[in-house]
Amino acid sequence: MPHEYQRTPFNTSLPVYVTGSVCSASHPGARDIGFLTMKWQVMQVSNGVITGFIGTGTPVYAVEAGTVVYLNRTTTCYDNRNPATLCPEAHGIAVKGSDGYYTLYAHVYPNFALRIGSTVQPGTWLGNVDNSGNTTGPHVHFARFSPNANDSNFSQNGTCDWTMKGLVPSNYNGWWQQPNGTLYYFVNGKPWLGWTGALSNGVSYQLSLTTGAWTGWAFFQGRYWFWNGASWENRGTQAPLSINKSRAARSRTKPTQPPQLKRTGKVTRVSSPARGRRYLGGGKSPAPRIRKKS
Ligand SMILES: [Zn+2]
Repeated sequence: MPHEYQRTPFNTSLPVYVTGSVCSASHPGARDIGFLTMKWQVMQVSNGVITGFIGTGTPVYAVEAGTVVYLNRTTTCYDNRNPATLCPEAHGIAVKGSDGYYTLYAHVYPNFALRIGSTVQPGTWLGNVDNSGNTTGPHVHFARFSPNANDSNFSQNGTCDWTMKGLVPSNYNGWWQQPNGTLYYFVNGKPWLGWTGALSNGVSYQLSLTTGAWTGWAFFQGRYWFWNGASWENRGTQAPLSINKSRAARSRTKPTQPPQLKRTGKVTRVSSPARGRRYLGGGKSPAPRIRKKS
């Protein structure tokens, strides 16, 4: 049985997903994890010169109880514009759990209150994401290491034999529902951004870059439905405005009684799904365009 961490390092209602590298020989014991809003980066400017990028300042919390065995507050370089050879280390914290295994949280600036030997509990504030070291965007490099007699050399044996509650599985396709009920659509474990054409189930979606919420249309049981980021609105049997527009452009006639739509960006044409097909749940996934990793 893999070790299961009972929480993620984030207090967020957004899905926590594998943003980049996963456990491998070159990435021992580690999965790079984050959530949707971590794509935002803030430029760090000094005297008019861009000196780097900083992360979102997202607080990071311990996922299990243990003792702090490693703190790094000394790195001064940020993001991957610095070659890894010049910027080999990120800020970070390592904790030795009661089972003797270590957990590392890297690209995280440690909470000043922490010392080597400090004890932490699940949920103890460890620090903030800062995008230090060799990264391509703010995230947490979360790694697990096997027990070792020398705490100061904790990272000898990375182990990938772990899972984490609240993490979107990296092969997940379909809706992912957060404890607060919010739904997100994932393809191969990655949030699906941008529009595509109609899906096989007649649903199209968009992520709001402002709120992080998904919006989108579904054609289901003979009606158009709009996912407003929180709930499905029944918009009746009339096609959405922009769909009518494209029809009107061809027929040179104005649509009658278009539904009142919020401005949601481009709406693609949706096709009729098979009768009774559900819009929730996984099923076959399309081949979407996926954002480049941040
Ligand atoms: Zn990593």
